[in-house]
Amino acid sequence: MSQTKIYEGKAKILYTTEDPEILLTVYKDDATAFNAQKRGQIEGKGVINCQITAALFTWLGSNNIPTHYLDCPQPNQMRVKAVKIVPVEVVVRNIAAGSLCRQTGLPEGKVLPSPLVEYYYKSDELGDPLLTRDRIFLLDLVDPQRLTEIENMARKINQNLQSFFERCHITLVDFKLEFGIDAEENLLLADEISPDTCRLWDRDNTDPQSRVMDKDRFRKDLGQVESAYQQVQQRVLAQLKQQL
Ligand code: UDP
Repeated sequence: MSQTKIYEGKAKILYTTEDPEILLTVYKDDATAFNAQKRGQIEGKGVINCQITAALFTWLGSNNIPTHYLDCPQPNQMRVKAVKIVPVEVVVRNIAAGSLCRQTGLPEGKVLPSPLVEYYYKSDELGDPLLTRDRIFLLDLVDPQRLTEIENMARKINQNLQSFFERCHITLVDFKLEFGIDAEENLLLADEISPDTCRLWDRDNTDPQSRVMDKDRFRKDLGQVESAYQQVQQRVLAQLKQQL
């Protein structure tokens, strides 16, 4: 196997394969928060996040949302279509939490009148700052037509994920998406969708701490991080079985 490491991120390592159009993503157990100021390990996270992402990308694909996902040769490994990643992180919010509350004063848990789509500059150096449309065009990160396509796809993904998670008895509070552009200039959903990149609250639990099933358990030292991630995996995989 001709595998060369091309990039190592906080949660994943990217390798080349024999096929230049295919890359291999290896999911790690490493966890970071607050722009990598807090570091740790979540046992089994690599496998769990890889399996959840594979399940959600499979389901989104079956709903006509194109993704870069191909298959999983190993439980913590994913083969993906090679894409050029758009340097803008797209956050979709249904309920106020995290930086939205810190920056606006909205109370945590407030249901938003309609989903909010936000853009952040994918730059660890600058601390992933919030962007405006004009700043995106100023920096020439994406052109206006592509940004409209990204926004429409993000809203469609949100509708699909919200209803999927609802059936898992999980509330989809907010999440982050990344997009890529393939050799044919098609826009594809890329990266991952997992408890590392979403806020997920257990619908069967109203306690503001124990309902948390995502990386906030790690960020806020709430404990039982592994079991929360496992619970999300179990529910997502069981739901996918029913849907397909
Ligand atoms: N998020 C992410 N990667 C980032 C920043 C945010 O996956 O680099 C996710 C985060 O897990 C949450 C959503 O995007 O589900 C919104 O995050 P927020 O802006 O509230 O930031 P935070 O409060 O986590 O700093």
